[in-house]
Amino acid sequence: MTVTQAVCLVGGRGTRLGALTDQTPKPMLSVGGRPFLDYIVHEARRFGLSQLLLLTGYRSEAIEARYHRKVFGTLEVEVVVEPTPAGTAGALVNAASKLDDTFFMMNGDSFFDFNWLSLAPALAQPGWKMHAALASGIEGSRYGRVDLQDGGIRGFRPEGPSGQPINAGIYLMRKSVLADIKASPCSLEREIMPELAARGELLGTAAEGSFIDIGIPDDFARAQVLLPTYMKRPAAFLDRDGVLNRDDGYVHRPDQIVWMPGAIEAVRWLNDKGYYVFVVTNQGGVAHGYYTEQHVHDLHRWMQQQLQAAGAHIDAFEHSPFHPDGVVEAYARESELRKPQAGMLHKLRRDWAVELEGSFMIGDRDSDVAAAKAGGVPGHLFAAGNLLESIRKIVTG
Ligand SMILES: [Mg+2]
Repeated sequence: MTVTQAVCLVGGRGTRLGALTDQTPKPMLSVGGRPFLDYIVHEARRFGLSQLLLLTGYRSEAIEARYHRKVFGTLEVEVVVEPTPAGTAGALVNAASKLDDTFFMMNGDSFFDFNWLSLAPALAQPGWKMHAALASGIEGSRYGRVDLQDGGIRGFRPEGPSGQPINAGIYLMRKSVLADIKASPCSLEREIMPELAARGELLGTAAEGSFIDIGIPDDFARAQVLLPTYMKRPAAFLDRDGVLNRDDGYVHRPDQIVWMPGAIEAVRWLNDKGYYVFVVTNQGGVAHGYYTEQHVHDLHRWMQQQLQAAGAHIDAFEHSPFHPDGVVEAYARESELRKPQAGMLHKLRRDWAVELEGSFMIGDRDSDVAAAKAGGVPGHLFAAGNLLESIRKIVTG
């Protein structure tokens, strides 16, 4: 069971922001030079999801123009318009026919710097309908507080001690929750979640992380500076064969993958540390005609699913299909995208806000170390042993 869909609620009127939202829906307000919604698209993309549904209402046209049927990496965005405002739960009911059995859901006016996939290991567990991301360590009296015990949410309070976490507006959902929504309009937060909590069907995972609610004027001002800085992260560039999986020569199918010891744990650890995690892999087997680029894409999708069960993800995969001795004409040449050249690293640095300070590459060949050097980051050789331990040493010195 894997999750590939995210659903974002962007139908709100945004009345707390006054005149700012007279012409523009709140998620389209400019934050650090781009619409706020861009940051949510960015997150859904980097967590390896393949579809993002935007559930719109108020001034939907602006959202449609920028995102409807657009593709960002492996993420495709679709806009679903709500005919009349029906609350957060009603918006889900309206989109019912498009919902997967399980999906991520998030509010379109808040941002929590959090590993969404850390909610996913609960998929192996029965008996729940919603799993909420909670932000801990948030000061201030304007937030409701959540009673969390042993991974279950027991209830909500309009106010509470700052030692208690707040609801951060990101959820893993089971579609079966729709059966509990009987009225319209209906609010998930006020009507559905308290019922689920009372029945023990509401899980919570609390984490430290910056939280911003752009519906509040103070936070909206803070977001202008903070959100662009959240996008800047150091990157771990990982070679694939011989680092993530055993290099048995021209690996291209799931049944050939043997994960290296500590590999999945290493990716999760880097995710939780706030790194971008990129795979940078030479796949000369495509040029040799042993397999196609479609095999490479399919294998990477499968690897992403395996990682998800452990709460981990790769932000982006880059592969080079070229080889100078190849037989497939389109790929039979030297390329700057082929290690030891640094084209794949350059491409990733152009597409993502990589902070060089703290970034590094790890591979099992000298050509990996050379590519790292040409790409402007320190390169490390992974000889053998446990990948998590090796990466820990690199990161913590
Ligand atoms: Mg290798």
